[in-house]
Amino acid sequence: MKTIKTISEMQDCRKTLAEPVGFVPTMGYLHGGHISLVRKAREENVSVVVSIFVNPKQFGPNEDFEKYPRDLQGDLEILEEEGVDAVFAPEAAEIYPQDFNSRVEVLGITQKLEGNCRPGHFRGVTTVVNKLFNIVRPQRAYFGQKDAQQVIVIQKMVKDLNMNLEVITCPTIREEDGLAMSSRNIYMNPEERQSAIVLYRSLMLAQDMYQRGERDTGAIRKEMVRLIKTEELARIDYVSVADPATLDELDMITGKALVSLAVKFGKTRLIDNVVLG
Ligand code: AMP
Repeated sequence: MKTIKTISEMQDCRKTLAEPVGFVPTMGYLHGGHISLVRKAREENVSVVVSIFVNPKQFGPNEDFEKYPRDLQGDLEILEEEGVDAVFAPEAAEIYPQDFNSRVEVLGITQKLEGNCRPGHFRGVTTVVNKLFNIVRPQRAYFGQKDAQQVIVIQKMVKDLNMNLEVITCPTIREEDGLAMSSRNIYMNPEERQSAIVLYRSLMLAQDMYQRGERDTGAIRKEMVRLIKTEELARIDYVSVADPATLDELDMITGKALVSLAVKFGKTRLIDNVVLG
């Protein structure tokens, strides 16, 4: 496995990789969610490239960029085990030199949900993912359903800008108690970690209501909020039942619905979702 720090080395390495190339972009501190993406890429492609880059442009000024967990050595050991061909782990100055002056932005859907709570976040994501796609030139790129809006935004970017690759969405991997795996889970103390189970419970409640025939999203949101509020440590950013294409809030569920939420436990902000229908 090659570990690569510069864009030019990555471009040279790419020329030597047998196609198709599968690509998994990450911010590192790898867990079972990331590994599931890598395994899917390994199954479906001849070569696999993983990037590890904590992208400063997708963090707001008061967010956790500095604090975000990093363990490059541990990550490399995991990826070696998984049979990855190349890991691209550049420094921020390599990706954004002093004179960097461009951005890639998807409009509309990036203003909703996460975009509403984290202004500029998706612009940072699409800018870096676009650069990474240009550098790695994969045939397929793998993203997690855990970040549902992110994958919707990336699909839209790829379609709108005619990017020549396939975006593949992989299911959310969870801890035994249902908490979605996340690099940020280690921020939580034991009480917060225990409380955080309510996220998955509230999503399962929504799914149960839907399966019992409930289609009124007001009733679903209300029950989810009520359940989450039984946890004293939980601070809700949003609880949403939206159209998965437009991310507009739905009144009634007639087709598919994306049930998503963002909740803070102390300083840790968690997101999760399920798709109904
Ligand atoms: P991150 O390192 O958090 O930027 O995540 C890198 C990729 O892994 C993204 O496509 C995420 O959606 C995906 N991912 C993160 N957590 C999970 C999870 N629990 N299950 C599946 N995919 C995940």
